[in-house]
Amino acid sequence: SAAAPRRAIRELPDELISQIAAGEVVERPASVVRELVDNALDAGASQIQLKLMAGGVRAIVVEDDGLGIPLEELPLALKRHATSKIRTLDELESVATMGFRGEALAAIASVAEMALLSRCEGASHAHRLDARSGEIAPAARARGTSVEVRELFFNTPARRKFLKTDATELAHCLEAVRRHALARPDVGFTVWHEGKLLEQWRAASSEQRLKDVLGEDFIADSRAVFSEAGPLRCYGRAGLPEAARSRADMQYVYVNGRFVRDKLIAHGIRSAYEDVLHGQRQPSYVLFIEIAPDRVDVNVHPTKIEVRFRDGRELHQRVRYAVQDALAQSRSAEALATIT
Ligand code: ADP
Ligand code: MG
Repeated sequence: SAAAPRRAIRELPDELISQIAAGEVVERPASVVRELVDNALDAGASQIQLKLMAGGVRAIVVEDDGLGIPLEELPLALKRHATSKIRTLDELESVATMGFRGEALAAIASVAEMALLSRCEGASHAHRLDARSGEIAPAARARGTSVEVRELFFNTPARRKFLKTDATELAHCLEAVRRHALARPDVGFTVWHEGKLLEQWRAASSEQRLKDVLGEDFIADSRAVFSEAGPLRCYGRAGLPEAARSRADMQYVYVNGRFVRDKLIAHGIRSAYEDVLHGQRQPSYVLFIEIAPDRVDVNVHPTKIEVRFRDGRELHQRVRYAVQDALAQSRSAEALATIT
């Protein structure tokens, strides 16, 4: 077969570059929720409110009471690779914020209608930037930022077709908020859908937040995990084998405050249950791992949900023993309780 005629090399237009990049960052409404809540937390918010319409496909509005964005920086916030969070490679290697790539808002703006409304401390009023027109107008709100995202994938119909029902998309959005809420009990979260209040988690202790988000049963049916050695700390709660579930829908792992999916850690936890959990039953757990920032690379995945560890083997063992200890102590405590 004849080869197609050669086409000249061309630079892609900015808009298309952003749309391609958006493919990695914005898969569905829940990805938008995740990125916007990340930003609110990075801005030091103590209250975050989400308002969703049609599972987030019609609208996602995230309001925070954080530091805000000054008027002169509003357009920059939407620019690709523009960030207030890192300046140098050194800062990247010890990054403490959720964001740092400066991609999310640009990506979202390229596949949805978007507006940014923000007010900083000391400003006389807020400003609203319409992403499509670039127009900025005065607006009213207290200190903080609101990001409005409407009609996700309106201009990329092929991707819009991959969305599931509103109910499914809403469930994914709620799961995204849950992941944040578990890690940040000090922050209040409110979630509305179609004008109905779905969740309200007030700032609370970690244990109270676990109860609020995962239910009283999770606390009753789990044991505290704690292990600390050198630069590695691992704590949280591990579900008792009796409370294992048929689905892996209550498994939360955080590395330095960031929700991650990690095969190594999951395997470490799973192996702690090796002798007590059979078949396909899935343990529930919430595990926070704190590790020196130079021992983990968070910049391996555009959404940072995957990370890479320098001492994977050691971490695997530590996690395994920490969970094993928690489960073993619970069994000896129960044994003692039945004797006495
Ligand atoms: P990143 O979070 O990686 O910096 P984003 O595209 O998510 O990139 O955001 C770009 C910039 O916009 C951020 O660095 C931050 O300065 C600003 N920003 C975004 N959302 C908020 C917010 N809710 N409050 C204050 N500033 C924000
Ligand atoms: Mg961000």
